[in-house]
Amino acid sequence: MTGSLTIAGLGPGDAALVTPEVSAALACATDVLGYTPYVARVPAREGLTLHPSDNRMELQRAGEALRLASEGRDVVMVSSGDPGVFAMAAAVFEALETAPQWHDVSIRVLPGVTAMLAAAARAGAPLGHDFCAINLSDNLKPWPIIEKRLRLAAEADFAIALYNPSSASRPDGFARALEVLNAAGCGARTIIFAHAVTTPKERIEVLSLQEARAEMADMATLVIIGNSATRRVGRWVYAPRRAS
Ligand code: SAH
Repeated sequence: MTGSLTIAGLGPGDAALVTPEVSAALACATDVLGYTPYVARVPAREGLTLHPSDNRMELQRAGEALRLASEGRDVVMVSSGDPGVFAMAAAVFEALETAPQWHDVSIRVLPGVTAMLAAAARAGAPLGHDFCAINLSDNLKPWPIIEKRLRLAAEADFAIALYNPSSASRPDGFARALEVLNAAGCGARTIIFAHAVTTPKERIEVLSLQEARAEMADMATLVIIGNSATRRVGRWVYAPRRAS
């Protein structure tokens, strides 16, 4: 009896952006686990048990997936985008670290198109030069660390992708992030709000950081802040390949 655990990314929303490798894994799965809206993207079929669960249940969900796999099931753990980017892959390895009985479970991690890349493609090439990605959720890290990373990213002149800019439980976080970046001298930089990219609700807005308002971002928004050389050409935004 050999089960397996595949940790897969479903991409940003459009079914065309689910990789063939991930589709093949889902076609062979006996069980799919994940946050409810992501599991809802997996079509039901006979022989497949869907296990949707709540946000913030990551460790419990990871333990459950490892247990099912150790019992011989072919389990797929789904995340949106890429499973290694602010998602379930790290939670599974965290659970594995504390559970030696599951160290022999066969595990694969399948990449997906992360929101940052889908958003960048819509805008042009804002990540064409050096960049970093910061998760604005202070659920698992204290806010002063987020502020420090924002300040240093600004100082290093990275383009910055912001995941989880806003949520009902953190109404002020993104407003504070904008304040930090304005205070760090980024007011003239280009900012892109990419909402629900590759879904029917997609909306892309481009403006300068000093014009940005906190309400422009919600949970389904990926924010990209350009570096100091980022420019616009027609409707496109790009980061030149050279830095001086
Ligand atoms: N693993 C995911 C990220 C999960 S964190 C990935 O690789 O994309 C959730 C955050 O991702 C959201 O708050 C939002 O900032 C971003 N996000 C996910 N899907 C998105 C989409 N279709 N459009 C814009 N942002 C998205």
